[in-house]
Amino acid sequence: MSEKEQAPLREIRINPIVPSESVLVATARAMRPRKDEEPAPRDTRRHVERCPFCQGNEAMTPPTIMAVPGEENWQIRMVENLYPVLGETAGGALTFGLQQAIDGYGRHEVIIDNAVHGIAIHEMDEAHLALLFGVYRDRMAQLYASDSRIRYVLVFKNFGPAAGASIAHTHSQIIAMPVVPENLHNELLNSRVHYQKYNQCIFCSLIDEALTFEATIYDRVSGEIRRKINVGQYVVERGEHFIAIKPFASRYEWEVHILPLQHDSDFLNISDAQRADLARVMRRTMARLDAVVGGVQYNYFLHSLPRSEAYADCQSGFHWHLEICPRTSIPTGFELGSGLFVNTISPEDAAQQLREVSLES
Ligand SMILES: [Zn+2]
Ligand SMILES: [Zn+2]
Ligand SMILES: [Zn+2]
Repeated sequence: MSEKEQAPLREIRINPIVPSESVLVATARAMRPRKDEEPAPRDTRRHVERCPFCQGNEAMTPPTIMAVPGEENWQIRMVENLYPVLGETAGGALTFGLQQAIDGYGRHEVIIDNAVHGIAIHEMDEAHLALLFGVYRDRMAQLYASDSRIRYVLVFKNFGPAAGASIAHTHSQIIAMPVVPENLHNELLNSRVHYQKYNQCIFCSLIDEALTFEATIYDRVSGEIRRKINVGQYVVERGEHFIAIKPFASRYEWEVHILPLQHDSDFLNISDAQRADLARVMRRTMARLDAVVGGVQYNYFLHSLPRSEAYADCQSGFHWHLEICPRTSIPTGFELGSGLFVNTISPEDAAQQLREVSLES
């Protein structure tokens, strides 16, 4: 049944991993003005004369930190961010009364994902994507090893102006920070509690549910069907080692999470075979998103085990993952004021639309 034939959904869904994070799924769309379905314009040029991230313009950026396969004819290049949000030198943060602050110490680096200026993730070949994930892993490991004050190394990507990308040339960013991000902290704490209670990783359980659960829920009085859950209903893409899932309580209309099928808390443990499969699942997932959303603009980020004593016992309960958050709308005052995300497309319907895209390979 398509979205149009269904009665509008209006329910507050609780994030099973972080229950304090709820989502209002309201498919009547009255919450937002209808956005026209024109795809957003995208910069698809191969090379731009004055782009600091294009080949030949290396002098326009800070020096190279890492270049793959080498400085000459690099395909992936990492440099210091010209405008770092966290820096090498301590800023001498002042704590006074309720004005608590900690030093903005850290590192902020840019990974130029590809030598081709306007290429999208789903247009890169899988060998290249596997290399890119290898660069993420290697740099994370180096940064953790370089300084014991670093608690978390956040890898993320902003693609498109709607996602906050200030330079059109495709790039990712790495921020090594002295604190653990709040959303990751909440995932770690809640998954630890779940593990202590049930001796099971909640992410593994969610994957199991997505792959094996089937249910029909009837109204107790009338006997009418209230909801049907089909096997694979939330699965967008499945590889040998990875799965792409549409979360039941998706904050964003087209949000998709990618997780390893085998339990692992730390992205740094990724094997070569896993990297190759992640590249494939990633490329296909992004191709589906691009086909459905049209010139998809998004943020993605990695959540993996931090380097901190406080989370040493989270290895069994926490499961690393990549969250992809396509940006198709701007948060409204209701969302900012209530802390509730509003999602106007039912996650079940979104997952189906994504699955139905036919990919060439
Ligand atoms: Zn460029
Ligand atoms: Zn797990
Ligand atoms: Zn997460």
